[in-house]
Amino acid sequence: MSRASDVAVIGAGVFGAWTALQLRRSGRSVTLVDAFGAGNTRSSSGGATRVFRIGYGREAFYSGWAQRSFSPWLDLFRDARQELFTRTGVLWMARADDPSPDVTIETLRRLRVPFETLDRTQLEQRYPQFTFGPITRGVLEPDAGVFMARRAVQAVVRQAVKQSVDYRVAAVRPPNGNGSIDALVTSDGDRITAGTYVFACGPWLPKLFPAVLGDRLHSTRQEVFFFGSEAGDRQFAPPAMPAWMDLAGGVYGLPDLEGRGFKVGLDHHGPPFDPELGERLVSEDALQVARLILARRVPALETAPLLEAHVCQYSNSWNGDFVIDRHPDLDNVWLVGGGSGHGFKHGPAVGEYVTAQLDGRATPEARFTLAAHRRSHERRIF
Ligand SMILES: Cc1cc2nc3c(=O)[nH]c(=O)nc-3n(C[C@H](O)[C@H](O)[C@H](O)COP(=O)(O)OP(=O)(O)OC[C@H]3O[C@@H](n4cnc5c(N)ncnc54)[C@H](O)[C@@H]3O)c2cc1C
Repeated sequence: MSRASDVAVIGAGVFGAWTALQLRRSGRSVTLVDAFGAGNTRSSSGGATRVFRIGYGREAFYSGWAQRSFSPWLDLFRDARQELFTRTGVLWMARADDPSPDVTIETLRRLRVPFETLDRTQLEQRYPQFTFGPITRGVLEPDAGVFMARRAVQAVVRQAVKQSVDYRVAAVRPPNGNGSIDALVTSDGDRITAGTYVFACGPWLPKLFPAVLGDRLHSTRQEVFFFGSEAGDRQFAPPAMPAWMDLAGGVYGLPDLEGRGFKVGLDHHGPPFDPELGERLVSEDALQVARLILARRVPALETAPLLEAHVCQYSNSWNGDFVIDRHPDLDNVWLVGGGSGHGFKHGPAVGEYVTAQLDGRATPEARFTLAAHRRSHERRIF
């Protein structure tokens, strides 16, 4: 069966789902296709939870994008009548030699985002659950928090379908050649016909477009662990416990939400990982690292039982900037990805940006262009 629409979006992760919705809102007819379904376990958007914050250190550009994305997310959850955001607060922990809190504070002040600064004594008084070790100060964004990620992406797709986006589960074969493409073919032999094709396939993009993205995006294995506190103990759940991150320590944590456990995420880039074929069994080494972090940081959980663990993958660009650009050889094909370890919160802004690019009414951001994406690796954006 052939379907004709103004735009076909391939990939219903957070980038593709929001892009489909925003394109539809602009009046276009849209087809949205995903190989395994929106928010599937293999996708980068398919985790239980993702942090929303506005502070971004030197990368104030993404603070602006996060701020722009916040209301569309909350509006969507309100329309969907689902509680998919918890205002846990997000605590940025910093060491003495780290200037990023100062820059973050400047940005938050400029954007009129509420925040609190806490010195070591205040941190210890407010959060006795932690042993702060090398941490000397913190910046707390009280209005920031945590999305229920998988369900949030599925809510975006449901909203898109309500607004007549044609959504289906099918694997799309990558196009080849030059010039404009007429149609895409799916693995079941169906044809998808559209004026423009947006590939928002996250960590699959380098495999689909090896010549263009093969050495620009790198998928890495990332492991997360959920530990259980003692029965009746609420000190690791909101409001006592915020989401927190220690970028220099390569770790972040989330409070216990929905009784799932206290989440510890290892943020250092892991080894290369295939999003489709990779086995998602966590490694003993990573579990030991997570336990070591607990012992040092959250001693009451040192021997807490592991309740759940997951392997997910970041789709990393050279520095953490997204890739949003037209394919260099295919005039009506756009590539949208490189969400790295921080893309989830920006779904609405990504969709808005892609829509404006397709309208031809916005100057491209240099940072998103293929030309700006180096083949080296220098992580700068967290
Ligand atoms: C462990 C972990 C923690 C993270 N924490 C945060 C956080 O706290 N805050 C934050 O903002 N971000 C966070 N991120 C980053 C964020 O989750 C990602 O940047 C974002 O989800 C990327 O979304 P995406 O739509 O680009 O890719 P994906 O979600 O991977 O979606 C791509 C989709 O394309 C589909 N697809 C692939 N190939 C095809 C094909 N041939 N045909 C049809 N469909 C196809 C796939 O099935 C998939 O659903 C985290 C990521 C991980 C892994």
